[in-house]
Amino acid sequence: MSSKLFDLTGKTAIVTGGNGGIGYGMASEIGKSGANVVITGRNSDKTKAAVNELKKSVDNVIGIDSDVSDESSIKDMIKTSYDTFGSIDVLINNAGIGIRELPENYNTDDWNKVININLTGAFLCSREVYPIMKSQGSGKIINIGSMTSIFGLDWAVAYASSKGGIVQLTKTLAVSWAKDNIQSNCILPGWIHTDLTQGIKDQFQDRYQQILSRIPSNRWGEPDDLAGTAVYLSSSASDYVNGVSIAVDGGYTSF
Ligand code: NDP
Repeated sequence: MSSKLFDLTGKTAIVTGGNGGIGYGMASEIGKSGANVVITGRNSDKTKAAVNELKKSVDNVIGIDSDVSDESSIKDMIKTSYDTFGSIDVLINNAGIGIRELPENYNTDDWNKVININLTGAFLCSREVYPIMKSQGSGKIINIGSMTSIFGLDWAVAYASSKGGIVQLTKTLAVSWAKDNIQSNCILPGWIHTDLTQGIKDQFQDRYQQILSRIPSNRWGEPDDLAGTAVYLSSSASDYVNGVSIAVDGGYTSF
């Protein structure tokens, strides 16, 4: 008989920003582990294409156009998810952006945009799923931090501030909602090849190589590298794990 520890059959998982990159990698493996999957994003065509691709290996998957910087859009997205599948068991707050500029030149609009999407969006999505998870008697919230949750980065003042905040959001939700059997944890991805980081490879080869030189695994990560940890934190295997941040970084933070 096989173990059910990581089985997600009958669960429903929302992955914000699941239409590409790291979110897509996590959504794919969570779906293959049996969950109904909801992926969201702002780009409708990208979401449709991702749903079509996921349908090849995932039984139940839908895409919803939704902007995590828009509160009413979040409410609609969560209602549609719940109406479609009848539960929300896992929320992965993955949607995120970066705007690169040095702190001294960073303008207020860009600061607000990054904080609203990366940090406030994660809070609002969590707050909106809470009553559903509470009434179900269980839930898993997985936030996506970054190496900049730990380290400073010259060109990423708003991004790093949002990702530092994500760690504290995770801890606060963990202590607040543990009584409701809701676990909140955080994944800190290392340096991963996605659209978000493509510009570093294309335009800043020196920086790309400098980063590579201090990754003990001697490679940048791929979106699929995050999938196993996402399944673990979505499953009953992690029921006594609450408020932690797990680096998935090829050893970067240990160097
Ligand atoms: P991508 O740019 O590939 O993916 C970002 C995703 O977020 C897209 O699906 C995008 O969809 C979605 N998104 C952006 N803004 C919004 C919004 N306002 N509302 C809803 N969805 C939105 O980047 P990654 O896969 O690399 O990033 C995913 C997460 O991982 C982010 O939180 C990022 O900070 C984090 N991360 C990435 C690292 C890396 O090295 N790549 C390292 C550490 C953390 P759409 O375009 O359709 O809106």
